[in-house]
Amino acid sequence: MRAARLHGAGDVRIDDVPTPEAGPGEVLVRVRAVAICPSDLRLYQDGHASGVVPDHPMIQGHEFSGEIAALSEGVAGPPVGTRVAVEPSWHCGECDLCRAGHENLCRNIVFPSFPQRDGALAEYIACPAFSVRPLPDGVSDIEGALIEPLGVGIHAVRLSGAAHGERVAVLGAGTIGMSVLLVLRARGVEDIALAEPIEGRRGWPRGLGAEPVVASHEELVDAGVEADIVFECSGDNEAVEQAMRLARPAGRVVVVGIPHPDQVTFDSTVPRRRELTVMFSRRSRDTLDEAIELIATGAVDVGSLPVHEFTLDQTVEAIEATAARPGDMLRAIVAP
Ligand SMILES: [Zn+2]
Ligand SMILES: [Zn+2]
Repeated sequence: MRAARLHGAGDVRIDDVPTPEAGPGEVLVRVRAVAICPSDLRLYQDGHASGVVPDHPMIQGHEFSGEIAALSEGVAGPPVGTRVAVEPSWHCGECDLCRAGHENLCRNIVFPSFPQRDGALAEYIACPAFSVRPLPDGVSDIEGALIEPLGVGIHAVRLSGAAHGERVAVLGAGTIGMSVLLVLRARGVEDIALAEPIEGRRGWPRGLGAEPVVASHEELVDAGVEADIVFECSGDNEAVEQAMRLARPAGRVVVVGIPHPDQVTFDSTVPRRRELTVMFSRRSRDTLDEAIELIATGAVDVGSLPVHEFTLDQTVEAIEATAARPGDMLRAIVAP
């Protein structure tokens, strides 16, 4: 099959590689849409992701949808031809963390698009059967690929305990910030302020009723925003401290973005004096069914978020478009 493989920093090539086979308990998925995640970009630009350096050419891409191409023996379904979404955090189900319900923190986690397991920027990928769900007819392949980041939003909102009547601030209107916003709105949280430095991206949260939507956290502070919960979704290193400055005393801060660079410093006076609860949110767990239902019922409209589409041969362009962070694109979508 054809696959976009990362050979080193800044070096992605379209290679012919063996088509994977569905191993025990797995299904083979023919990939139909892959969204390029900023975490893919980090590996492409830096040659490592939080210190993990691949030692062989690898296939990236973990936000994807496809259709079932084959089932391994003993796997009951979904039947061949079924379009599916995938939660790409593959847990063992047996370790202490899995048994405690923290499958996303599994001690034996397998995450495709990291060096240990190839991702979806290819014609096919083998996935555990437990990680796929059929997509209803009304949910497009691209929406199917956006179910993973929507799941990240669902997980973060669940962790936060956000409830109707609370005041919320969101930093960043990228895919994750928008996913958090969509999930909050679907849960009836109405009072949501948002900061996003890229002008072209500020129209989307406004369209979802966020108010105010401004360029920076300082403007939110100046506007008197003091939030019960702040979601840091920008991935900017300084935004962790900015999020703390926006939280009211006894408030909560949920760090969803992956700070870049990894080292974060902040004035400890702010969280200490305000007795803040600061949480870090890790990927997603058990969010597939809720994400599909939210989209299928129209409770969230990820299909209205702007994407640009690319072919597998244009994978480098898709990655470069992600790096450029244009105001009219939320995700670059590769259709292999
Ligand atoms: Zn991602
Ligand atoms: Zn486990």
